[in-house]
Amino acid sequence: MTKKDRYGARSIGDRELRPESLMMSYGYRPSLSEGALKSPIFQTSTFVFDSAEDGKAFFEVAYGLREQEAGESLGLIYSRLNNPDLEILEDRLTLWDDAEAAAVFESGMGAISTTVMTYLRPGHTLLYSEPVYGGTQYLFSEILPQFGIETRSFRAVGGTAAMREAAREAADDGTLRMIYIETPANPTNHLVDIEAAVALAKEHSDPANPTLVAVDNTFLGPIFQNPLQLGADLVLYSLTKYVGGHSDVIAGACLGSAERIHEVKGSRTFFGSMAGPWTGWLLMRSLETLKLRMTRQSETAGRVADWLVRHPKVTRVYYPGHLGEGDEGYEIFQRQCLAAGGMVSFDLDGGEAAAFRFLNHLTLVKLAVSLGGTESLAQHPGTMTHSDIPAADQREMGITESMVRLSVGVEDFDDLVADLSQALAAV
Ligand SMILES: *Cc1c(COP(=O)(O)O)cnc(C)c1O
Repeated sequence: MTKKDRYGARSIGDRELRPESLMMSYGYRPSLSEGALKSPIFQTSTFVFDSAEDGKAFFEVAYGLREQEAGESLGLIYSRLNNPDLEILEDRLTLWDDAEAAAVFESGMGAISTTVMTYLRPGHTLLYSEPVYGGTQYLFSEILPQFGIETRSFRAVGGTAAMREAAREAADDGTLRMIYIETPANPTNHLVDIEAAVALAKEHSDPANPTLVAVDNTFLGPIFQNPLQLGADLVLYSLTKYVGGHSDVIAGACLGSAERIHEVKGSRTFFGSMAGPWTGWLLMRSLETLKLRMTRQSETAGRVADWLVRHPKVTRVYYPGHLGEGDEGYEIFQRQCLAAGGMVSFDLDGGEAAAFRFLNHLTLVKLAVSLGGTESLAQHPGTMTHSDIPAADQREMGITESMVRLSVGVEDFDDLVADLSQALAAV
């Protein structure tokens, strides 16, 4: 017997199918598209209603004028509200994180800004971990305060004690509406304890405005970290990175309960930050190989990190797989990560000059920001991705002058080592 829901079969007999087995077909019915095996790109701005009654019913649901009836799905109206390529993609994305619902956006920043603007109001406080992605940092420290939203940060390097102290101070200020964390932190790979953030949110929650925990899961998710399972309310992605995985598309997502995603999609409709059908189609293509790619990238990164540790010109390697018993991060890693991922940072002997010489001599590995693609990339966080953070703050966050961040792709391990080795020899 085959169990089916309206999205297609999810199990065979009593065997629940794994997400990687469902990525090629889930949520798409070929009979609705001339039998095409793959979903077409629905390059259309608007959709024809079968009848005026249908149009009325679709709008009632879309605008929340009445409760959705059991089994009633939102009819297709207009591509700012819904489009098959986005809906199928969203249904597939939910499977990895076991989320009730997902919303996709035209960028990771679109997902983050739309989500925080859905929940934060004047007088609310947002607490966030540092370092966070540069765009997020700017949004939180420069833009949200202009709307009367207080923002406070804590350093991931300070561990759970720093987060607890900052949460207490933030709650003293007023309504702590959101704890926003990025883990592993970029570029230092420090881990922030998701379950500890959830416990702090419960402790400081105001029943009228509960404290939500939002996690940017771009670095390890959705294959190696699933924050919703640890109690987080919202998970955010830059799909541009591992999920897109080929450095050819910009996109983002927010996942959570049906109720939360309904709220986030409400803002998305009016901010107009949804993704287009081409983006949806490209990401569906990417999702089919997501697990293969991330598994290979994580395995190779682990080997690269082991190789770097033994190199005489490398003074320190930052890799979650190297945490040992006794490190605060080790215990967090055991509880919340399934693997260490494909991002490795390291320090060279000789400061910025040494890092630049190394970067300028790479050939197979490309000198570029961004990460998570099939090709390996390297960059210098201090003067590139994190250059707008003052040097003294960078040092406090653990970003050194000689730090290089490497995003490991799917190339052959020995070829990568050949490139790293000759570039290190030039230092
Ligand atoms: C890239 C990135 C973002 C922003 O995503 P865009 O798709 O570039 O808008 C947010 N968070 C993290 C961790 C990122 O790496």
